[in-house]
Amino acid sequence: MVTVINNTDLKDTGSNKKVLLAAPRGYCAGVDRAVIAVEKALDHYGAPVYVRKQIVHNKHVVRSLERRGAIFVEEVDEAPEGCVMIFSAHGVSPAVVAMAESRNQQTIDATCPLVTKVHREVQRFEKEGYDILLVGHEGHEEVEGTAGQAPGIVQLIDGNDDIAKAKVKDPSKVIWLSQTTLSVDETMETVLKIRERFPLLENPPSDDICYATQNRQVAIKKIGADSDLVIVVGSANSSNTVRLVEVALEAGAKAAYRVDFASEIEDSWFEGVATVGVSSGASVPEELVSDVLDYLDEKGFGNVSTVTTAEEDIQFSLPKELRKELKGAGHDTSNKKR
Ligand code: SF4
Repeated sequence: MVTVINNTDLKDTGSNKKVLLAAPRGYCAGVDRAVIAVEKALDHYGAPVYVRKQIVHNKHVVRSLERRGAIFVEEVDEAPEGCVMIFSAHGVSPAVVAMAESRNQQTIDATCPLVTKVHREVQRFEKEGYDILLVGHEGHEEVEGTAGQAPGIVQLIDGNDDIAKAKVKDPSKVIWLSQTTLSVDETMETVLKIRERFPLLENPPSDDICYATQNRQVAIKKIGADSDLVIVVGSANSSNTVRLVEVALEAGAKAAYRVDFASEIEDSWFEGVATVGVSSGASVPEELVSDVLDYLDEKGFGNVSTVTTAEEDIQFSLPKELRKELKGAGHDTSNKKR
């Protein structure tokens, strides 16, 4: 039986084996909205509904939705004409929207509003004649969707080589933006390096790295410093999850691993370990963290202290196309699971 102590005061529970559970962790508002959008679309339209890319980067979530009748495709032209097509939380470029329209697909845009905010910044700074340097990871879906808002104007900065290669029309009109799920510290280091090349580089009007990414990094820094081992639950293609592992190590954790499921935890990780830190990425349902805590309990790590560094109460309303449909049918349009 896991004992959870809900405070940040790390009490001596009599055993030197303990778990520090980071809070906030797990689902963010954008992921919650995107997953509920697929569930409500399945309820309303019936299976199948198609989803371009993984709705959120989590194996368990994707498999659960597949079981309910969602079909995940890499590109909209893999799905039939006229189908219901949901765009994932990571966002899409206008070219993808146009391709779906040309196939008469009924689209539901589950792009996280905080990604859409970055899309709007790109559109605005393109209009104002800026060159845009987008700090992010090459090949990540969010970066493709953001860069696709202004092809030819946005240059991706994924490492020092990209900084050296960047070319701008006017060095006094250049701005950096970023992917929403990066390491805050690493991004600021990158920006300093970009500024060495372009001293007049302008900052985004507000943080592009989202509240959920930042809050989870602050929490894991706090527990990482006191942990012999940190376990982060989340999938390998989840950028914010992978960043949490890196941030835990930078904060002083002796070891840190990412697992999709508790079954992936290895006994060898526990040699000489007294304190285990636990967190999860923004696309991870809490049941997967509970499985990890149960596993740790069986290994004698039953005393769990929750270390809370922020409270979150953000909620986003459902995608407007879906709200309109549900309202027309007299169904619940709130962002709540049935
Ligand atoms: Fe939105 Fe941030 Fe969650 Fe991504 S991690 S879906 S940007 S709230």
